[in-house]
Amino acid sequence: MTEQNATVPDADAAPARERLRIAEIFHSIQGEADAIGWPSVFVRLTGCPLRCVWCDTEYAFHGGQWHDIDEIVAEVASYATRHVCVTGGEPLAQKRCPILLRKLCDAGHAVSLETSGSIDVSVVDPRVGIVMDLKAPGSGESARNLWSNLDHLKPGDQVKIVIADRADYDWACAQLVEHRLAERWMVLFSPVHGKVAPRELAEWILADRLPVRFQMQLHKVLWGNTPGK
Ligand code: SF4
Repeated sequence: MTEQNATVPDADAAPARERLRIAEIFHSIQGEADAIGWPSVFVRLTGCPLRCVWCDTEYAFHGGQWHDIDEIVAEVASYATRHVCVTGGEPLAQKRCPILLRKLCDAGHAVSLETSGSIDVSVVDPRVGIVMDLKAPGSGESARNLWSNLDHLKPGDQVKIVIADRADYDWACAQLVEHRLAERWMVLFSPVHGKVAPRELAEWILADRLPVRFQMQLHKVLWGNTPGK
């Protein structure tokens, strides 16, 4: 074999396997955002570069199993459910996540992506409904907001701000104005469990006549903070 032949890839060779590290795949009720209430399949990818102080999915930071993307799509199909939510951790931290999103769309699913807002969303298939966080100061991770992502969201995407206290609420109100968030997308305000009373947040929203959608996590009402639910 010549040196050249030794370094030129074989055109007939199988492509590198497209795999993702998966924390869990499960069937539940969507507890958040616009698809709330729909039976959905959740694909939770392992890993997140952030450490929000109130994170409720720390179990997804590590571990999980590697799966071929086509196997993931096949497992999702086995649930015979239209809605699919790709979540984490931070799913976009795995560079092959956009391949999974595209293949799930190709398979005919209504696909949503839950992302921290700290990683470029321009790589996401336009058929995917993006639910993007803006991290308020109380998360400890507001410096990670990638503000250029706002230039890549589509009109049907959603922006979520999780609020731990009045300072977070005031910060969120300032972002509404500065970035015209509510004019461009559905905006969701969500209270941090145990930090701000849901009723208090609801009353702030009403008092200020904010054009945002209050939400609580329906799956936690149904099942508590149980992995796989
Ligand atoms: S971005 Fe999400 S998964 Fe990552 S630490 Fe924050 S809340 Fe947890």
